[in-house]
Amino acid sequence: MMNRMTIKNEVEFSGIGIHTGELVKVRLVPEMEPVKEAPTGVIFVREGVAIPAHITFVSSSRRCVVLSNGGVSVGTVEHLLAALWAFGITDVRIYVEGPEIPIGEGNAMHWVKLLSEAGVRELPYERSLIRIKEPIEVGDEQKGIYAMAEPCDRLCVHYTFKHERPFIGTQSFFGYDLRGLFVNEIAPARTFGFIEEVEELRRAGLGKGGSLDNCLIVFADGYSAPLKFENELVRHKVLDLLGDTVLLGRELIARIEVCMGGHDLHLQLMKRIWKRVIRDEG
Ligand SMILES: [Zn+2]
Repeated sequence: MMNRMTIKNEVEFSGIGIHTGELVKVRLVPEMEPVKEAPTGVIFVREGVAIPAHITFVSSSRRCVVLSNGGVSVGTVEHLLAALWAFGITDVRIYVEGPEIPIGEGNAMHWVKLLSEAGVRELPYERSLIRIKEPIEVGDEQKGIYAMAEPCDRLCVHYTFKHERPFIGTQSFFGYDLRGLFVNEIAPARTFGFIEEVEELRRAGLGKGGSLDNCLIVFADGYSAPLKFENELVRHKVLDLLGDTVLLGRELIARIEVCMGGHDLHLQLMKRIWKRVIRDEG
């Protein structure tokens, strides 16, 4: 898959945002045909403002990834971006009528379905890549909270997530053929939240759209619903990470290892990688 790709047909999806609780419509529009100029990447458009899916437009990564441009924001972009990556789509316009991308069932299955309907189409432009040549690390390996990128022939991920609750324990996931694994092994893994965080979120006025239909709640003694995979939590982390790599604006070719990460740590790594790209390209 060396060329850039867009979707074949325009498609749309409506649903609620997990943080705002608002009903939001998104419409995915292919890169124009015939392509007269070089394609422009993944771009969100809200209220007429174009917001590129790039780390330089990230305004928050605390609970979800929020992109902003000139005071206009779109939140919770990560699961859609992960699905675009899995389908190899590099160029698409995403018109958003609301503050946040719909959460669906808390995973990426609604995007898998939508992108399957849309289909993909190759563009006559070569895909831009970022190849990691030497290891890059952020976080603190001593404390067991870190993310690193090292050379590999493709994007592969080794993710570890631990929690003191014994029924969670240590979960890990290694994926080499992530595009091959995505639909069945990664996309179904749901958003999760610890009950104590859920209460905190509600007090902060967030998580308004969160429910047992779109979020797996972790109680003191178990989960709110049966798990789809025994390591579903870490699989969801991998989903989030894949979406975060898209924010480089080019396809990342690296082995990524993360321990106890989240969007903040993922984006620290992406920013470090992007800095190196800028430096190397002078
Ligand atoms: Zn997520």
